[in-house]
Amino acid sequence: MNIIDIIEKKKNNVELNDEEIGFFVKNYTSGSITDYQAAALIMAICINGMTQDEILSLTMHMAHSGDVLDLSDISKNIVDKHSTGGVGDKVTLIVTPIIASLGIPVAKMSGRGLGITGGTADKLESIPGYNINVSLEQFKKSVLKVGACLASQTMDLAPADKKIYALRDTIGCTNSMPLIASSIMSKKIAAGANSIVLDVTCGSGAFMQDTAKAKELAKLMVLIGKLAGRKTICVITNMDEPLGRMVGNSLEVIESVESLKGNMEKDVKNVVYALCTEMMLLSGKYRDRNKCTSAIDETLSSMRAYNKFKELVANQGGDVSYLEDTSKFAVAPIISPVISDNEGFVEELNAYKVGKAGVNLGIGRLQKTDTIDYRVGFKFEKKVGDRVNKGDILAYVYANSPEKAVEAIEAIKEAYKFGPDELHKKDILDVVM
Ligand code: URA
Repeated sequence: MNIIDIIEKKKNNVELNDEEIGFFVKNYTSGSITDYQAAALIMAICINGMTQDEILSLTMHMAHSGDVLDLSDISKNIVDKHSTGGVGDKVTLIVTPIIASLGIPVAKMSGRGLGITGGTADKLESIPGYNINVSLEQFKKSVLKVGACLASQTMDLAPADKKIYALRDTIGCTNSMPLIASSIMSKKIAAGANSIVLDVTCGSGAFMQDTAKAKELAKLMVLIGKLAGRKTICVITNMDEPLGRMVGNSLEVIESVESLKGNMEKDVKNVVYALCTEMMLLSGKYRDRNKCTSAIDETLSSMRAYNKFKELVANQGGDVSYLEDTSKFAVAPIISPVISDNEGFVEELNAYKVGKAGVNLGIGRLQKTDTIDYRVGFKFEKKVGDRVNKGDILAYVYANSPEKAVEAIEAIKEAYKFGPDELHKKDILDVVM
């Protein structure tokens, strides 16, 4: 067997068998298949797709490319949460401490930014000292001690996904259903939680642009979860406009801290409550949706969730004084307002355009080796449904150079559309189980 034959086969849209997929995963992980060969195969998969059998095979080989954790000695009811990615998606930073503060352990492996979508790992690293690269032993210890761990893929968990994920980001192969499903589910299976809640984002700022496609991806991941013996539920959420007010690494940490203190934007709140509720029900600790809502309300208003976030960050070496006083975060040297030339109601704030403008500012990476700037991003003053007059401030751009600020201001103006009517967007589109 050799990789060139496998590439040719997929290029000609012929189904790969389990042995061929296993050969690719094993040898790309070990380094004996090169990046350019893997890129060719990934591109062929992206263009021609995969059958259900191929996707299951790819997922299981990726999941078993490293350790597969058994967390049953810690608890039988560990939950995990993952998003298919979005713009301004800081939900993990809010949901994890809420769930952990309710006595339900969360063991989660987070990724870096991919394409225009942000990554929780990058956001957490904007907190000085935060160590996302924990060992397997520390991962387990943290779940036991704090009730939660947010770690990256440095442990030997799904190393094949780590390599393929980083490669996809730089070759325009992020929005492929088989690659997204196998990427997410391989990590989740390897990380050892019994229950998995997936946020399948849908809209201009997501990999799935319409509800039918998002539903197809959700069904596929629920099926993979079932076959792997994990209870899996997908919540399909709206990602037509960025979630919340802030987009950018440290800016989103700041918004998360505010949210945990009870100042949560409506769209963030709807998504956070929906995901928390499914996690609480799946854990078996709660049976009633109304009781879930009141428990979330209580842990937020009593600051238990906020304190849990501080505990989680401190446990992983982060300087919690930045959470206690978010003005300590380094601020971008240029903060420029985006002024409206129009009037009316905001009809659209296109998350894809915002995400692209964000990558250009330095929130995300254009190349695998690019460094990101934690300080840059956007704060939106006007979102869908808001009334705008000429001269109003639509948003602020946080940039590290005057040129980048000017480019970003233009891009953000382009992302807005106005109309005569007040629109109300739906945040939760469906639940698939
Ligand atoms: N999140 C992942 O972990 N993988 C993807 O491919 C997309 C989102």
